[in-house]
Amino acid sequence: MIKQINVLFLLFCSLTGQSLIDHNILNKCGLIPSNENQLYRIDQNWGYSYDSLLVDLERWGNSPYVNIDSIGATVQNRALWEITISNFPDSNTLPRVYIHTRTHPSEEESFWVSDEIINLLLSDSPYAEFVRNNTVFHIIPMYNPDGVELGFSRENANGIDIESGWDDVTLEPEVAVLKNRFIELMATNNPVEVALNMHSAYSCVRYFVYHAAGGTTTNYTILEQQFINDVRSYFPNGFEPWDYFVSWNSGTPDQYPESWWWMTHGENVLALTYEDMNCAAAGAFDSTANAIVRGVVDYLGLEYVGTNDNLFTHPGKFSLIQNYPNPFNPTTTIQFILSKASNVNISIFDLSGHEIIHLVRESLTSGSKSVKWDGTDKSGIKVPSGIYFYSISTGNFRQTRKMVLLK
Ligand SMILES: [Zn+2]
Repeated sequence: MIKQINVLFLLFCSLTGQSLIDHNILNKCGLIPSNENQLYRIDQNWGYSYDSLLVDLERWGNSPYVNIDSIGATVQNRALWEITISNFPDSNTLPRVYIHTRTHPSEEESFWVSDEIINLLLSDSPYAEFVRNNTVFHIIPMYNPDGVELGFSRENANGIDIESGWDDVTLEPEVAVLKNRFIELMATNNPVEVALNMHSAYSCVRYFVYHAAGGTTTNYTILEQQFINDVRSYFPNGFEPWDYFVSWNSGTPDQYPESWWWMTHGENVLALTYEDMNCAAAGAFDSTANAIVRGVVDYLGLEYVGTNDNLFTHPGKFSLIQNYPNPFNPTTTIQFILSKASNVNISIFDLSGHEIIHLVRESLTSGSKSVKWDGTDKSGIKVPSGIYFYSISTGNFRQTRKMVLLK
């Protein structure tokens, strides 16, 4: 399959020919902003070509932690490759993270960040092992390979910017493929909880595009702020504060991937665009990737408490399952699985981290367990609508999940 695509790639290159322009007139970000549609860089594929990706796919595919699959095809029939990284890729309990990269071909920094995320997740470090044991990461390293090969700055082979148009009646092929993949994963028992859309802006800073309460909810903005602050804490001075780039001040747009996530899954999915640097000072992709992965893992409520192998949790031995129903009013059921007898604590917290009630403090036998929460605090008073967290701890391991009480 990969070899076949190599041939297609070569054919295509020779058909397209060269449409180079003088690189001296490019700005320092490698782009003429006023003339980006006419800008071709097929000689460089903006620094990382589809062919480079195919070589890397073969290399990544040698890892026991990677599954590689084509989830569909582009306008010019290139495969859209998705790599899945987990020690338990077929798990139906582990939370999923979705990262898609390089919608805009000229923003190759976004690939280098994702490349370092892949390197981190595939490494032999105890932390990487912990992440692989407790999550399923899906990554599209190159979402717009046609644009990369054509040397387009932002568009696919139809000349359309596939960062938008998610609300169109007729979708671009790449948009249809990714949207269907999201729908497919959201229908599983363990849906996507974090979705990152990787770009690099024509500026010299790193930031997340923040969605204001005007287009979301106050609760959602609290989650965004917590996540962004947490990522920043792992790379001091590396990222701009959450309010550096505020969007959706007056309503929810409907054309972007994040719009689709918000309109279909609301507070259940943290969906953000990340913008890396796109300038001569770009770099530190490994520090950036490390901060983003740690921020995501923290957001999922997975707490890494050790540096030694014997402190790992292993799914199948221990698993906290999403409560049902969710959102709920006023009662919901929290299910968890113990593979061995354990001392178990389960508590409910509000958004500011205050413990609402300590639901379980017991020594339990192995097996599947559940506990109900009726939406009251430790004094028996009904708590208001909002986002709550339930947290389970046994010994050295702690896991937290989010739920929504909606009255
Ligand atoms: Zn972009």
